[in-house]
Amino acid sequence: MDLGALYEEVILDHNRSPRNWGEIPGARRVDGRNPLCGDRISLSVQVDGDVITDIRFTGEGCAISKASASMMTQAIKGKTRQEAESLFERFHDLVTGQSSAAPADKSLGSLRAFAGVARFPTRVKCATMAWHAMKEATGFGLQAPEKDEA
Ligand code: ZN
Repeated sequence: MDLGALYEEVILDHNRSPRNWGEIPGARRVDGRNPLCGDRISLSVQVDGDVITDIRFTGEGCAISKASASMMTQAIKGKTRQEAESLFERFHDLVTGQSSAAPADKSLGSLRAFAGVARFPTRVKCATMAWHAMKEATGFGLQAPEKDEA
């Protein structure tokens, strides 16, 4: 399959210049790992009441994992936990191909650039690693990881 389909321009841009890069001193920190690909992330999240007021990350890994982390931080900063969780569900449907409607879901915004991941099942974890770390950091990720990503 054509790997080029994975690398939309917006993904390459976020890989080159990740947004919200760094740590938030004193904030909750969660590390994520994707041993299949060697991706690693360290995520700092500041939650005020129910709102994610700040989120930053550092890490290393493939372009998909880095761009996904960067775009995730942009997408959920300022959102409530519930909004962030709902966005993750829709993003998850998009990258796993579980919903044929997801690629047309305008509420996903630029995250739709990851639609190509659905054609590369081994890369799903690259695209969702930062989101799983975000779920854990904000306290609503208490259920077991999905089997389809094991
Ligand atoms: Zn990766």
